[in-house]
Parts: sequence; C-alpha cells; structure tokens
Amino acid sequence: MDYGARQKKLRGQIEDNGFRALLVTHLPNVRYLCGFTGSSAALILTGDRSIFFSDGRYIEQAKAEVQNSRVVIGRKAALTSAAEWLVAHRTSFRRSGKAGLSVGIEGEHLTVAARSKLAKVLEPGITLKETPPLIEHARMVKDTEEIKLIRAAVRMGSSLFSALIKNIRPGIEENEVAAELEYEARRAGAEQMSFPTIIASGKRSALPHGVASEAKIRAKGFVVCDFGVILAGYCSDMTRTVHVGKPGREAMATYEMVREAQQAAVEAVAPGVAVGEVDNAARKLLKTRGLTKYFSHSTGHGVGLEIHEAPRMAAGQADVLQAGMVITIEPGVYIPGKWGIRIEDMVLVTETGCEVLTPTSKELITL
Ligand code: ZN
Ligand code: ZN
Repeated sequence: MDYGARQKKLRGQIEDNGFRALLVTHLPNVRYLCGFTGSSAALILTGDRSIFFSDGRYIEQAKAEVQNSRVVIGRKAALTSAAEWLVAHRTSFRRSGKAGLSVGIEGEHLTVAARSKLAKVLEPGITLKETPPLIEHARMVKDTEEIKLIRAAVRMGSSLFSALIKNIRPGIEENEVAAELEYEARRAGAEQMSFPTIIASGKRSALPHGVASEAKIRAKGFVVCDFGVILAGYCSDMTRTVHVGKPGREAMATYEMVREAQQAAVEAVAPGVAVGEVDNAARKLLKTRGLTKYFSHSTGHGVGLEIHEAPRMAAGQADVLQAGMVITIEPGVYIPGKWGIRIEDMVLVTETGCEVLTPTSKELITL
C-alpha cells in the first residue's frame, strides 16, 4: 500500500480546511493512512509530519506495521499521548501572524467523553474543530492494491455460498446454517465475518436485517442469506435469496422483479452518475410493479476496510460515482408477515461503466 501517497493527498486538504493538524482516531482511518491494524491508536497528520501513537501493548506490532510515520509508544492511552504531543510541539506549528493552533478531529467517531478528555490535556490556544469526513472521502476511491484485496475477499465469500446452501434444509436452525458458514469461512482463511450473518427464513425474511436466529427453516419459503468475510482487512458483502420447496407463481414473479431491479441498478452504474440515479433505477422498476413501498432501504453502499462506507446509494445523497469506487447493489422487497427477497452484488466502477465482482448466479435456487 502506498501510505505516503495517501498522506500526501490529505495534507493539502488539512490546510485548505483551516487546520494545522488532523487528529485521526477512527481505527480504519488510522489503518488506511499508516497500516496499523491494532485496536488502540491515534495519528497526527500535519503539513509535513505524520506521528503515530499507541500504548505498550503494541510496541512490536507498531514496529512491524506502521509505515511513513514516526512511532510514539506512550505510557498513557494513545489519545492522551497525542494530546500531550500537540502541547509539547505547539510552537512548531505557529506561523507568523497566527497565534492559535486549530486541530481537526473526526466528529463522526470521537465520543463526547474522549473530546472532553482531550480538551483537558490541551492548553488554551489549541482548539479542536470538527473536520468534514476527509479520509472517508479519500477512501471511496480504491487503489489497485485495494481492488486486488477486495476481489480476493469477494471470491472467498462467493465460494462459501455453495457450501452454505448445502446446509439449508427444512428443520435446521438458522443459527446452525450461519455457524457452519462461519466455521468454513475461518477454515478458508477469513479473519472474521464482515458483520453478523443474516439467515432469515420464512416470515423472518421480511426483516431486512434478520440476523440468524433460533428459528427453524420451514418446509417452504424464502431464505435470505446475507454475509461477508474479511480478508487482509477488506470486506466482502453478498446476498442471495433461495427458496426451500417449490416456489409458487407469485413468489417466482416477485423474485424476478427484484432480480430485474437489481440488474437495472447495476446497469446504471458508471463514472459521473449521481448515486441517487442508481437508487432510482432500482426503485423505478419496482414502482411499475407496485412494490416500491416494500423496498425500505437504500440501494447500496461503499465497501472496503469497513462494511458500510461512503458513498451511500440513496436519494438525496450528493456523491457522484468515480472509477475505482466499490459499491454494493442490493435492492430488496419485504412484505411484512409474508416474505422478503434481496439480491446483492459488489460492483466496481470502471472508466467505462462497471464490473460486477460477485460471480455467483442470480437465478432463483430451489432447495
Ligand atoms: Zn449484505
Ligand atoms: Zn450490503
């Protein structure tokens, strides 16, 4: 990973936004900027420096992982060490005519308690200001190495799907299906699942986030399977809805409509297209069939180091697709008390359009 290039890109934006330094505390952002994968860290990025902070538990790991940054292992928590560093180095930030030092913090991620702790260590004259999500914005467009890792995670997720459906049968608990999948995932080399596995059968399939439960799969009905693995830090995310027993005509027709809506949204993906347009492509198709009111979430989201990243594929969002973004396309229809269907692929925005990364067929599978 070219951490130097990532830091350089951000440096220009720090001053443009009126800060002298950016205090990065959101761990996926720390990882993105310097490679550290541990669970306690902070990073200060200034116009010409990058300083990494952690505590004694991470001496070895920081030495092995952290790139393009000075490593400071403090006796106190990473955030306190970072604040003390800012106080000790405050004069080095000052430039003629400007007395104060404005430090950008990640308001979306820093707790109120952490902010007050910071403020207590900092001297008057050092002010904390919320930054726009600069790093999240940079992370939307993946570089070549990230795309390679994402492809590998997607491949693994997809290969697990064939094993997963072998376990779906009447009488088996949703939890058991999820447990087998997660066991296979770890055996295949996954670091962990991207999120709690969703195995939602029968009426539960109408819950868009129906994580696997003690419910037993019945002799007939849809089963929504939504899962992902993390490989080398990068997440995969896919959904397929299968049917246990022979589906009736209405079930088959509704499945086809969701499949067409998913296809329509995929076809709308291209650089320069507003995310709302992609969302609308899926919604428009479902509208002609009177199903939009049953499509209760957005059409997709970015995926990378985190399972839900920018951009969000929804109406009212300002983001425009760019080559290198990796997003999901996952429309669904959920009829309360009856059934739910969702189909989700991961899609790479290319220079000319898009590439569907998930290789799994979207034909309705009957078990
Ligand atoms: Zn999913
Ligand atoms: Zn998703």
